[in-house]
Amino acid sequence: MPFLTEPEPERGANLPIMPGISRIVAANPGPMTYFGTNTYLIETNEGLVVLDPGPEDHPEHVDNIIRHTGGQIAFILLSHAHHDHFGAVAELQARTNVPTVGFTTSIDERFEADIKLKGGDVFAGLTAVHTPGHAADHLCFAVKAPNGDRVLFSADHVMSWSTSIVSPPNGDMKDYFNSLELLLKREDDVFLPGHGPELRDPRALVREMLTHRMARENAIAKKLAEGPASTYTLMDTLYSQVNPRLRKAAERNVLAHLLKMEIEHKVARDGEMWRAA
Ligand SMILES: [Zn+2]
Repeated sequence: MPFLTEPEPERGANLPIMPGISRIVAANPGPMTYFGTNTYLIETNEGLVVLDPGPEDHPEHVDNIIRHTGGQIAFILLSHAHHDHFGAVAELQARTNVPTVGFTTSIDERFEADIKLKGGDVFAGLTAVHTPGHAADHLCFAVKAPNGDRVLFSADHVMSWSTSIVSPPNGDMKDYFNSLELLLKREDDVFLPGHGPELRDPRALVREMLTHRMARENAIAKKLAEGPASTYTLMDTLYSQVNPRLRKAAERNVLAHLLKMEIEHKVARDGEMWRAA
């Protein structure tokens, strides 16, 4: 897959991306977060919006958001209720007293948006695009930037540096496929993801991601044609090269494929074992 890399972003800095849009990268690097969560500062006609305040237990990150905005924030926007995105919401909200904006239903009881959006809603000039798959409550946000670029904040649905984890039950592979296909129909110039650098010509990578997932699914079907196997065994076969720290996540991805294939009557289950249907 043609993933992008970038040098480690300057810690604590407000890094300009294009007129009206910048990011501060939280200091939560890891095998699933790259250099950390991207917190975006977006100038809108209703004031400055902070998209994804980042992880909890990183008070310096909230300090940086306050420092770079002078605390002049209109709204806190959330792409999805995973801890590396909403963890800092409570502290940022306590210090700025502004409303949070996110999907109608949250997948984590610790977060509930004050202002609830569904797919297609327009808020402060940003159009919410419901993209379940990585998370059931996942929203991308589309906006036309002052320089004319059609920007999509793609969060963790499509990232420039890596594929996404699809972990049931909040992650759903069938939804994920549909949400990738939804982005193929759009005409965005650039994706700004939840982790990693900006992605130009984004549909090329989206197409690769769909191809990659179909190849995984075919590999699972091929393996099961040889005989029944557990989710773990399938992961072990398919992801023999994977970083040991990502084996659990890889197993969740395989399970997500199997659940999709089960609904499509391609596989069936006997206890712990999967077989071709
Ligand atoms: Zn994330």
